[in-house]
Amino acid sequence: MSTALRVAVVGSGPAGFYAAGALLDAEVGVEVDVIERLPTPWGLVRLGVAPDHPKLKTVSRAFERIAAKPGFRFLGNVEVGRDLTHDDLVRLYDAVVYAVGAQTDRRLGIPGEELPGSWSATEFVAWYNGHPDFHQSPFDLNVERAVVIGNGNVALDVARMLALTPEELAPTDTTDPAIEAIGNSPLREIVVVGRRGPAQASFTTPELHELGDLAGADVVVDPADLELDPASAGAVEHDTNARRNLEVLREFAARQPAGKPVTLRLRFFLSPVAIRGHGTVETIELVRNRLEERDGRLVAVATDDHETLDCGLVFRSVGYLGVAVPDVPFDDRRATIRNDRGRVLADEGAPLPGVYCAGWIKRGPTGIIGTNKKDATETITALLEDVEAGRIEHRPENTPEAVEAVLAERGVRAILYTGWTSINELERAAGEKLGRPRVKLRAWDELLEAAERIAETTA
Ligand code: NAP
Repeated sequence: MSTALRVAVVGSGPAGFYAAGALLDAEVGVEVDVIERLPTPWGLVRLGVAPDHPKLKTVSRAFERIAAKPGFRFLGNVEVGRDLTHDDLVRLYDAVVYAVGAQTDRRLGIPGEELPGSWSATEFVAWYNGHPDFHQSPFDLNVERAVVIGNGNVALDVARMLALTPEELAPTDTTDPAIEAIGNSPLREIVVVGRRGPAQASFTTPELHELGDLAGADVVVDPADLELDPASAGAVEHDTNARRNLEVLREFAARQPAGKPVTLRLRFFLSPVAIRGHGTVETIELVRNRLEERDGRLVAVATDDHETLDCGLVFRSVGYLGVAVPDVPFDDRRATIRNDRGRVLADEGAPLPGVYCAGWIKRGPTGIIGTNKKDATETITALLEDVEAGRIEHRPENTPEAVEAVLAERGVRAILYTGWTSINELERAAGEKLGRPRVKLRAWDELLEAAERIAETTA
């Protein structure tokens, strides 16, 4: 009988995979079940990274190598909170690592936010990437102006995707309905709106730079927005990303538009106040902000200067938000699982034995894919210290079969890694014929059917 420690990693995005990799590389024997709600692994690498950034997706090769390690098992199509509870996991495994990401988006809290035509960026990203929960979202891009609220990399992804030409989209794995909708859109202007100044934007320079190379869109920046107040000028001295962003923005501001079909306008110091329209988005009201230093931070403070922009679409791209896992301690203010360097803390502040977290649900929705490697390693180091100290140990009744029995009893058809391989092969073969990396299966039933072609399920 195996004496390996049995660990459940919940979530198969970068943090989940890096956690699984660190566990499987440990000197003590470990077996890992990566439990995933979707039939497909890789989280935002599959369903968040923009399809025109294929290089970022090559990290999936590292995940494939982790999945090939002895002791790895994928249990897709299993939802924690529905098919298995936290108590089940604590009972069935020696340790649990939550790496569930940030499942929703932050709200603006302004009137009209719910009007049809006002979308969260995360919904749009999920739609063009073929997320099975969003593939039927009724995106209507039949508008002339779209406004993207936010100054992060997701806002730039959304603006850039909207601006891509059919030729730029053709070699990507963007879903066909999204390629068609973007290609047929009469969009003339995309306005990206930042509430603070260019020196405070959180997007990164390579992503900003790319906007200047779009085949179908001229990028436009008002030079007046780039005149820095003394506090911003001082802050930029110590912030390489901001300094480089400003160099790129100055180059954009100096350009003469080439007369491309779309204008991609970057605006700053503006906050949305209301979204209006009869049954659907027609206008957005913005207020001009000035910057004020509060507690050492430059914050946006509204002035009396308002303007209204006609627009048919608003994308709210103001950050992701973590969602609590039922029965797992949650810090509502930070929207993360309550933890100390990955050890989940009970409400009284003591570590919950054998319960850990990694990635966005541990530290909040920031950082690039690689940030999750360091983050997951920190968590797994804590877990292995707890093993070493005898705070967690293998219980012989915790076997792979015990998990299968519970799933079978509940009628849950888990998709194993070979099921995912079957989906992957089908998608890649469909893409190969068209010179694309893959053509994604988008509907739940298509994905489940593809996974089951080789009858690799547990029930
Ligand atoms: P983010 O970088 O945190 O940006 C959120 C933006 O929303 C900030 O500009 C923020 O402005 C603004 N904001 C927040 N509340 C607002 C409000 N009420 N009104 C107006 N604006 C508001 O988040 P993200 O873009 O969702 O990206 C998440 C993470 O994924 C980031 O670390 C990002 O770099 C990463 N990512 C990377 C890539 C890439 O590498 N290519 C692509 C996509 C995402 P303030 O600064 O004023 O708060």
